Amino acid sequence: MIAKFWGVRGSIPAPPTSKEVKFKMLRLLEQAANHDISTPAKREEFLQTVDEKLLGVLGGNTSCVELRVEDKIFIFDMGSGLRELGQYLINKVGNSESLELHIFIGHTHWDHIQGFPFFLPAYNSKTTINFYHLHPQLKERLDLQQDFRFFPVSLDYMASKRTYNQLQVDSEITIGKVKIKTIELNHPGKAFGYRVEYCGKTFIYASDSEYSNLPPERINKYIDFYKDADLLVFDAPYSFNEELEKINWGHSSALVGIDISVKARVKHLALFHHAPENDDYEVFKLLDTALHYKQRNYPLANLNVFLAREGMEINL
Ligand SMILES: [Zn+2]
Ligand SMILES: [Zn+2]
Repeated sequence: MIAKFWGVRGSIPAPPTSKEVKFKMLRLLEQAANHDISTPAKREEFLQTVDEKLLGVLGGNTSCVELRVEDKIFIFDMGSGLRELGQYLINKVGNSESLELHIFIGHTHWDHIQGFPFFLPAYNSKTTINFYHLHPQLKERLDLQQDFRFFPVSLDYMASKRTYNQLQVDSEITIGKVKIKTIELNHPGKAFGYRVEYCGKTFIYASDSEYSNLPPERINKYIDFYKDADLLVFDAPYSFNEELEKINWGHSSALVGIDISVKARVKHLALFHHAPENDDYEVFKLLDTALHYKQRNYPLANLNVFLAREGMEINL
């Protein structure tokens, strides 16, 4: 299985600003002042030494993760990152080849569906899209998003073939050799998580959930669901203080993610759904705090904690 992040922000797209770029450039220039960067090769060598905080961006698009399993393409949520995934698929497959996609919807808040009207494969009659969802009436929700008052092209105009597969909570389905289980997350209007198992590897997509306001038995249910995951994509936009202040907002922090992941023996924890008000530097500060917390509380835990960033691929 290969997981690829196409959108890692939450709530609303948040592209980097000129101020942020200038900040990174100034830090880079400060570091470059102590290096010989007189030739292209030396400049390339210098860039290898630069802190990852200063290179590239985490990305401004909202939630969208692709999972490739053999020749099957699974997509988790359709935030604005879906637009670029669509462009990639069109470039790769072409307009005349058939394409089948399995799209799992965690929930239908804007940041998880807003990419669909811009998803080029959905306009192609050679594309089949199988939606999987737990909320009722997904088609009506997508129809509404593309109502003429809000978007110029209606859902019915899109030429792809689409099926809507209503799943049940705490259930399991199989697609080829891939097993997918569902769980309800703790989020206003409900959100749902997916556990994907294939050939002894486990990927979990669990975005938009709050844990700190739950009783221990509910937390234990999540620990069971996340058990032994190779990769857990976890909603972590908040700092510790924000988590205390924003009760019932339906989101979480890296610290809670670490507590749960250690208990569930997760191997890789991807911090996801970065808050739009935090620039990359602020998000990296949250990671630093999280790594310090893990080191202090679970020094022996075999858990890799990192920030999800656009374009990142994880081979499971
Ligand atoms: Zn969200
Ligand atoms: Zn939400």
